[in-house]
Amino acid sequence: MDWLVGIYLGIGVLKTLGRCTNANPAPCPDWVVGMTRPFSRLRSERLVAGVFLVALTIGTAAHAACFQVDGMQIPQLKSALSDAKAVLGNDPSQRISPLQSIYQRIAVAAGIRPALLVCNDPIYNAEALGRPDFGFIVFYTPLLELINNNVDELAFVMAHEFSHLGLDHPMQRATAHQNIANWARWIANDRYKRTGQPTEARKQAVDFWDAESTKFTRKQEREADDKGFSIAVTLAKFGSDGAKSFWKKMSKFPPSDRPAYLDDHPSTPERLERADLQAVNQGYINSAAALLERNDWPRLALLVDPWLRDVPESGAGWYYNGLVLIRQNKAQAEITQVFETSVSYYLGSESLGPRSQEDQDEVQNAWVYLCVALFDEGFKIESANCSRRILYAEWKDTFIAMTFRGVFLVGGDERVAKTEFWIAREKSGSKLITSDKSIAASRGPLHTFPPPWKAIRFPAIPGQ
Ligand SMILES: [Zn+2]
Repeated sequence: MDWLVGIYLGIGVLKTLGRCTNANPAPCPDWVVGMTRPFSRLRSERLVAGVFLVALTIGTAAHAACFQVDGMQIPQLKSALSDAKAVLGNDPSQRISPLQSIYQRIAVAAGIRPALLVCNDPIYNAEALGRPDFGFIVFYTPLLELINNNVDELAFVMAHEFSHLGLDHPMQRATAHQNIANWARWIANDRYKRTGQPTEARKQAVDFWDAESTKFTRKQEREADDKGFSIAVTLAKFGSDGAKSFWKKMSKFPPSDRPAYLDDHPSTPERLERADLQAVNQGYINSAAALLERNDWPRLALLVDPWLRDVPESGAGWYYNGLVLIRQNKAQAEITQVFETSVSYYLGSESLGPRSQEDQDEVQNAWVYLCVALFDEGFKIESANCSRRILYAEWKDTFIAMTFRGVFLVGGDERVAKTEFWIAREKSGSKLITSDKSIAASRGPLHTFPPPWKAIRFPAIPGQ
């Protein structure tokens, strides 16, 4: 999937760089030397307006007709819309009904309601433009034909596009492209000053542009695949094989027919492999949750080993392993270690991606178990830090009741508290740990410490 905003800025830069390929290199030195002025940073409103403008221009140029299926009304798009039959032929409802029902479920799961359009451009693509609260998603008819109403595939692709918007990817990409373009200009300028060779200077800048923009696109695509899986499967409860079967279909394109936009995306085999691993992990999660529901501990214990062999970086796999160890009365340190491993993979798994796992119910449970276990082992500051990962009030109360009780206060704004915790000592000698400096300041001497956001254990600080 791609974004027109990226194409637009990308083409702009390449065209500018391209002037130096002219047979007559006369304009090149001026350009190379003169290119020190950076792009002015576009304000987001202007960018959104630009995005729509580009989308509409491209749509008009290709004689595409677009129909809005669902979602928010966007005044700027109104004049570009056609009726359903103009886009989807004489029986549009067979395409529209599944799109609508999937949109409804994905929108609830993702918490945003972008406009959903179908356009009949001859391209195997879908894309997302705008911002989380003001944007739109486009499906092009060839992609719909390819998916052919497979519900789970459609849900995955739609959730992928929702993820681009929800994670503010189009805007981040526009900013990144401006920065990369500035660097490219600097490189060209510097090279030309040193060598006096405009062609070579240009080549260096273009190579830099290609490498960096591709790297950035791949990172975003991977993130949208991961979050898309989570929205479609974990939150909206669609089947876990949608991404896998979609990438299987896409991998069948002969190289000559592959859509060109895929060149700077992660390779299709790579995406297929990742989707497969996520689906395998989901299969194990479903089995484990069912076994836990039935209190079938022997079979849950048997499930954990093959699970962690097949998906070694599964946060949920390590979490269920921790539950089994508690059940088996294993040593506290061993249990804590397993929950640490669980949350470490929830925070940073290479193979599954943190975004694919972040909406699982098991995440919060794993954090509560870990935070309490850290306290029990005497790692109190780490336990206090750890507790900020517990998002639900009910779980927080449980944690406080099981650990710091009255001594433990967390005040202030969590967003502010991301940088520091404050420690103060009450007159009675008891200790106060808080994220609100003003609370701490009124209680006597205080000092601060940076929160170790990864759940790594340190020896407790003496006297704390
Ligand atoms: Zn995409």
